[in-house]
Amino acid sequence: MKQVLVISGKGGTGKTTLAGVFARLAAPCVMADCDVDAADLHIILSPEKAEEKEFFGGSKARIDPAACISCGACARVCRYGAVRANPYSIDHTACEGCGVCVWNCPAKAIVFEKALSGRWGVSSCRFGTFAGARLEPAEENSGKLVALIRGEAKKAAEAAGAKWVILDGPPGIGCPVLASIGGVDAAVAVAEPTLSGIHDFGRLAELLTKQGIKGWLLVNKWDLNPEKTEELEKLAAGFGFGLLGRVPFDDKITEALLTLRTAGEDFPGPAADAMAGAWKKLAESL
Ligand code: SF4
Ligand code: SF4
Repeated sequence: MKQVLVISGKGGTGKTTLAGVFARLAAPCVMADCDVDAADLHIILSPEKAEEKEFFGGSKARIDPAACISCGACARVCRYGAVRANPYSIDHTACEGCGVCVWNCPAKAIVFEKALSGRWGVSSCRFGTFAGARLEPAEENSGKLVALIRGEAKKAAEAAGAKWVILDGPPGIGCPVLASIGGVDAAVAVAEPTLSGIHDFGRLAELLTKQGIKGWLLVNKWDLNPEKTEELEKLAAGFGFGLLGRVPFDDKITEALLTLRTAGEDFPGPAADAMAGAWKKLAESL
């Protein structure tokens, strides 16, 4: 089994579009949406409705009003402004679950209990098995949820004897990204030829290199700025990345997404062709 992660230094570069194309071409495969803060791979894969399971990623404080002596210690020590006074209570959306108020309450009036952070499920879709998850509003611990969903995807792949696990990763270089990259066989960075695209790709390339992950670059909408495309490719080569090619701007991509299909599935065009070429090159190298 090979795990291929599609990732980007920033959001909105076409990462999920590419992951959808890879999933179609790798079918039957296992797909997982690791962008749990803004999950959207399910929109183009239209999986069957999964039985939703709850994810408890951390704990939150709750004040027992019967035990509270209104001393105000919790409000003084909370660095997140999560304690309301008169009467004392906790704002759950502001509480970061650090537990400091619990330790400092002289009346032991604060309960620290597991909080629902997200939901996840595994179901089937037209390209194989889909594992998806999403965080509840204002919740964190997305790294733990990504680790969970990756574990479920791996189990599903082992059970089905699938050759490929396609992971739609989160953008940036934060905690969910770290949870996404461990143990993958290839990380494909999708970048656009802009100043910020180069900057964000550079940070991501540095992270992947430090983690010893084999990186690949695919430049999306390369024809919008050929000079910046060359800069991106030089930067990637400097990090030892493989080059998967260039995807041109193509409004067939929008048509495909509007009809909830992967690029090239019903609306062939040069961008979908370039993405298919990238998959061929990557799959052959693995
Ligand atoms: S520290 Fe405890 S007793 Fe004091 S106000 Fe907060 S909950 Fe009430
Ligand atoms: S657990 Fe931490 S963040 Fe939450 S209310 Fe207590 S001190 Fe504030």
